[in-house]
Amino acid sequence: MTRKTYDGPIVEVSFDGALCRHAAECVRGMPEVFDVAKRPWIDPTRADTEETAQTLRNVVGRCPSGALAIADSPTAADRTAS
Ligand code: SF4
Repeated sequence: MTRKTYDGPIVEVSFDGALCRHAAECVRGMPEVFDVAKRPWIDPTRADTEETAQTLRNVVGRCPSGALAIADSPTAADRTAS
């Protein structure tokens, strides 16, 4: 399985389903972003303030498998540059 990336206004989250151990740290930590009932199930657009983006960074940091990764959004970098 390949890693998929989901972009948001401040951060982007990527996910590799082959690594996921279904520990659900993500769903418990930030259900408004990680919702398995929705497609796509990861929605970083919900983390649209610095505060919520930091919460998302913390939640991704607790993923025990390395399935989740987070980076600053390239869209946000474009905005800063212009
Ligand atoms: S926290 Fe990581 S390992 Fe657990 S369900 Fe979410 S992506 Fe999978």
